[in-house]
Amino acid sequence: MHLDPFELHRPTTVDETVRLAGALAGRFDFLAGGTDLLPNYKMHLNLKPHLVALEDVDELRGFSADRLGAMARLADLERDPAFAATWPSVADAVGEVATPLVRASGTVGGNLLLETRCFFFNQSYFWRASLGFCLKADGDRCHVVPQKEVCYATHSGDLAPALMVVDAEVEVAGPAGRRRLPLADLYDAKGDGVRRLTLAPGELLVAVHLPRAARGRRGRYKKLRVRPAYDFPELGVAVAGRWTGDRVEELRIAVGGAEPRPRRFDTLTDALVGRTLDDARLRELAEAIGKSVRPVHNTFLLPDYRRRMVAVYVRRAVAEAREGTAG
Ligand SMILES: Cc1cc2nc3c(=O)[nH]c(=O)nc-3n(C[C@H](O)[C@H](O)[C@H](O)COP(=O)(O)OP(=O)(O)OC[C@H]3O[C@@H](n4cnc5c(N)ncnc54)[C@H](O)[C@@H]3O)c2cc1C
Ligand code: SF4
Repeated sequence: MHLDPFELHRPTTVDETVRLAGALAGRFDFLAGGTDLLPNYKMHLNLKPHLVALEDVDELRGFSADRLGAMARLADLERDPAFAATWPSVADAVGEVATPLVRASGTVGGNLLLETRCFFFNQSYFWRASLGFCLKADGDRCHVVPQKEVCYATHSGDLAPALMVVDAEVEVAGPAGRRRLPLADLYDAKGDGVRRLTLAPGELLVAVHLPRAARGRRGRYKKLRVRPAYDFPELGVAVAGRWTGDRVEELRIAVGGAEPRPRRFDTLTDALVGRTLDDARLRELAEAIGKSVRPVHNTFLLPDYRRRMVAVYVRRAVAEAREGTAG
């Protein structure tokens, strides 16, 4: 596997980056840490002739308790105990991404905008050519659910569910200016594994904003994967909430790693506010979330197992978050 030639651009401001993106009109990808994009390029997955590197754009760097720059490195977040104390679900998730080496280059923005994954897609060009390409790259059919023209590739980032449960917002910049939206709305509810984001063409993720009102929620992120030291999530469950004794004051749960987009379950959790979350009610909640998550057979573990594990992981994550220390 090799990298084909591409033209590399190195803008230094957000405005310059957006102008460049407009001029390259869809013939480019943004390059952050490159830990997802470049392996995909080596496998000849949806290559573009231009890469716009974000490394030199100052405004995208760094992080605080209120704001994560899109180019903040995961390893830097991981090394900050004050950040972990304030945002426990997010700190859990950061520590679960890949390996220390990948986290040294991987960024917050790249993690949130990670390409979706499927074992018929994340393969070399020759492997895919011998099987027949699929509609996510070079082809026009799906090998997982052949009768539908829909891609079921899985959102496999760890950070999104953990940031969604603290009501994070994202700031994006594009040809029409800047806007802010809830992180949950970055993922297209009507889309699929190909049309997975609500970003307009050429829009750049600038930062993630963490609301002060969510500080102090107890949080936990739990991840199911095949090899604990290395693998993408087969399932990721994030929880953040406040309790008085066993009574729920606030509760958010999000599930990632199981469908083309990470999802929050506010209708189910809002119904519990003001009520006691005893074991029976927690079991009911976990089963209801498990029933509504629909993985397909495109990762290592079987969908029925992943689905049953949703309920198990929800129960564990809620129990551990409730016992944990408020941030
Ligand atoms: C061996 C291995 C194991 C891995 N395991 C995991 C894992 O367990 N969990 C996990 O979550 N990830 C995993 N990853 C994926 C990846 O390393 C991380 O998600 C990482 O955080 C991606 O960040 P990056 O900066 O390298 O993204 P890049 O590869 O640079 O970019 C990823 C995508 O985001 C786009 N993008 C990046 N920044 C922006 C921006 N600011 N605005 C608009 N678009 C942008 C890029 O164009 C690209 O499409 C793994 C990768 C490897 C190689
Ligand atoms: S789910 Fe189907 S279309 Fe999507 S990547 Fe897998 S095989 Fe391709």
